[in-house]
Amino acid sequence: MLASFKHKLALYFLLLAVAPLTAAFWGFGTVAKRAEERRVDARLGAELRAVFASYERRADHVKALARNLARRRDIQQGLRVGRFSPLLGDVALVGPHRLAVGRRGTIEATQTVRVKAGRRVIGSILAVLPLDRSLLRQLRLESGLSHGDRIVFVPRSRSARRPLASGRSLAISVAGSRYRALATGPLSEQPNVQIAVLAPAQPIAAQAATTRRHLLYVLLGALLVLAAIAAAEARSVMRSLRELSQAALEIGRGGLDRRVPVRGRDEFADLAGSFNSMADQLRARLLELELQRTRLRESLSRTGELLTATHDIDQLLALIASAAVEAADAEGAALLGENGAVIEVGTLADDAKTFELPIASRESRFGILILYTADLDEDNLLATRALVAQGANALENACLHEAAARQARSDGLTGLANRRHCEERLVAEISRSERYETPLAVILCDIDEFKAANDSHGHAFGDLVLQRFADVLRGTLRDIDLSSRWGGEEFLIVLPGTTLEGAVEAAERIRTALAELELVAGAVTTVMTASFGIAKLAEGMDAFDLVRAADEALYEAKSRGKNCVSAAAETGAPGAKSAPQSEKNSLERGS
Ligand code: GH3
Ligand code: MG
Ligand code: MG
Repeated sequence: MLASFKHKLALYFLLLAVAPLTAAFWGFGTVAKRAEERRVDARLGAELRAVFASYERRADHVKALARNLARRRDIQQGLRVGRFSPLLGDVALVGPHRLAVGRRGTIEATQTVRVKAGRRVIGSILAVLPLDRSLLRQLRLESGLSHGDRIVFVPRSRSARRPLASGRSLAISVAGSRYRALATGPLSEQPNVQIAVLAPAQPIAAQAATTRRHLLYVLLGALLVLAAIAAAEARSVMRSLRELSQAALEIGRGGLDRRVPVRGRDEFADLAGSFNSMADQLRARLLELELQRTRLRESLSRTGELLTATHDIDQLLALIASAAVEAADAEGAALLGENGAVIEVGTLADDAKTFELPIASRESRFGILILYTADLDEDNLLATRALVAQGANALENACLHEAAARQARSDGLTGLANRRHCEERLVAEISRSERYETPLAVILCDIDEFKAANDSHGHAFGDLVLQRFADVLRGTLRDIDLSSRWGGEEFLIVLPGTTLEGAVEAAERIRTALAELELVAGAVTTVMTASFGIAKLAEGMDAFDLVRAADEALYEAKSRGKNCVSAAAETGAPGAKSAPQSEKNSLERGS
């Protein structure tokens, strides 16, 4: 990937630097060649003008000679008769009435001057200028031609009828050498001939080549400088990219302290800055998460400890609600317990988003937790679920614990308190009564003729009687009263805050309710009764004394014919009548 980017950079450099420089080289080379050609053309133009002026002077000179001759009388006379005394120099008779003046040549420029006698034309004189090497030499001398340039007469050949273009330079080849040529139009004195000046093409090409070589050096220099700059830039870019890539790899492996250097103020510096700030944020976020996780772990373990510290179900529900608010990072929570408890924690806005979690173990359901939170993310949800599950276990344990405790306190057949629990409560109630000086009474009741009922209707019926009697007690007494199965078909009822009269009233209510209760024994319906002995706590009495007093009253009720209530005398002093040894031992243990 990096190597290919390097190659791309090289390609971009070629495209951006080498291609334009090559085009510039080609363009400038062409321009330089044209400039050299224009310079030579200008020189040729000046030379041609000078040469032509010189030629015209020569042609005019010959014509002037012809005019002079035409004015001479002897010449006019000679022409009229067609005879001359010997002619001098370059003058020759070329026709019956025609003279020619000037040197003769192979190619000549000629002008005719008419010879008149008065108004009559008697002959003509031809002014001749030979277009030969001698004339070329003279023209060269007079026009001051540059060294190497040449003057030529260009005859119109038979094959090329068209004359050379005048006033425009063109490249021609003469005797195997290349020239740049500029020609006059066809001469008026000799329309088949043009004068041309030639400049050799080789110096033009050599000059253009020199210019192009200089240009090449300059462009190569520029290319080297560009290449050096581009290489330095590319190295800097590649270094920045390598640093970023290595830093990203290291951060990916957990090296969150890794940063890249920020150099200069270009886009790479921006990128490095952004990368560093991203790494900063990443580290801050991770620290925050770590902190949050530690807090959560601590909170979970604290909550776990608290959850195991109590078996009070309401207390546990309150604990679950407040710990869940913390774990879910919620605004508040409402917990609706199956037992009817409603616990509210934090802020419960009506328009807030809510999230419900049931609080349940595999065995039982304890309620529902409603979290008030705008956003519950995955981590918080997991933590809250874990906490609620832990809470449900604690509640399950509390229930089991409560069931076990209840079992230890109660009688299996009737569900009333057992004797041990009743003894403990009795001792506690006596203390409370003495401290707050409130009355306390007990009722000891015994079902009448129970043995006989057992015998005639069966043991199961006896059990049923015991259970129904327990129901009567539960239905008749106040919540603060404690009913217990004291033993066999005997029941002791502790009535806190109750006077002797109150206890008698209660006993009467129980007695009547039982007597009115129809009990089904197989095919027959029967009723059972019970006898009640009542005693109240008097000064100096302990639990044993109180039960014994009630027992004595019960004995009296039995003596009176059963199905009645008997209250112990107000002065029920200790030691009046001894209780059965088993009861005494039991009470001594409980007190
Ligand atoms: P009284 O009217 O004088 O009280 O006579 P009673 O027959 O009720 O008294 P007794 O003490 O002679 O008999 C009590 C009987 O209760 C003896 C025992 O078999 C029976 N009994 C004790 N506990 C239970 C029990 O849990 N279930 C049943 N079915 N019978 C029991
Ligand atoms: Mg009995
Ligand atoms: Mg009995």
